[in-house]
Amino acid sequence: MATQYGLLFDVTECVGCGECYTACKVKNGLKEPKEDFLTDHLSQHTYTVLEDHDGNYIRRMCMHCADPACASVCPIAAIVKTPEGPVVYDGDKCMGCRYCMQACPHHIPRYEWHSNTPVIHKCTMCYDRVKNGEQTACAEACPTGATLFGTLDELKTEAKKRIAENPDKYYPEVYGMTEAGGTNVLILSPVSFDQLGLASNLPKTALPQLTQQALDKIPAVVGAGSVFLTGMYWLTKRKNQISKEKNHAEGDLK
Ligand code: SF4
Ligand code: SF4
Ligand code: SF4
Repeated sequence: MATQYGLLFDVTECVGCGECYTACKVKNGLKEPKEDFLTDHLSQHTYTVLEDHDGNYIRRMCMHCADPACASVCPIAAIVKTPEGPVVYDGDKCMGCRYCMQACPHHIPRYEWHSNTPVIHKCTMCYDRVKNGEQTACAEACPTGATLFGTLDELKTEAKKRIAENPDKYYPEVYGMTEAGGTNVLILSPVSFDQLGLASNLPKTALPQLTQQALDKIPAVVGAGSVFLTGMYWLTKRKNQISKEKNHAEGDLK
């Protein structure tokens, strides 16, 4: 089995300089970085942003889930989990159905709303670099080590060690250890994760497994109604969220 890689983002070490944001733009040939980068949002032109929550900076980017819901719903396997950990997508295969946007528990994939042949976009954990033994562009650019690249095992050990050695400095959990089955991006924070705007009520089981377990247990006729209603609720909620993101994207092009 290939060694899995990931990123550890330590909120307590981040100074909000935005070097990670700029490095990602340059590495991926994306639209110019904004000077007021704290106002930028994820889009087809931006794969990572920095948010200020009362003086605590948090990066937003794909979490590279261990068992990604985005990949499980893609009808043509345009999104895949690589053996090294990054979750990547093939823009040539993507048919723009947006199922991945609705399935992602972290609300990450973005869409080319103004293209005639739209595809989705997101952080790929710099897979081209990682598979060649290099670290990600954002980790390389970070002057404080707040964004740290390494093997997933090393990063998990390091995160737990930091909490054990400095219990007063950290909220006593590592975000990403169990959320929706775990992720290859881990986060350490001085405050609870909901105070940073992170999804904090996610199940510990990967969403694709939950869906499968539910389908296995529910008798087809009895279950159809509740699965339909739950599905409609989830889809309506996500449609509202995606509509907000579309409005953001339109603002981005003005
Ligand atoms: S965070 Fe969302 S887009 Fe990224 S791997 Fe997980 S489900 Fe997919
Ligand atoms: S890992 Fe690469 S693609 Fe992802 S945010 Fe960092 S620089 Fe951007
Ligand atoms: S480069 Fe490092 S210190 Fe600067 S904003 Fe990004 S994570 Fe924070």
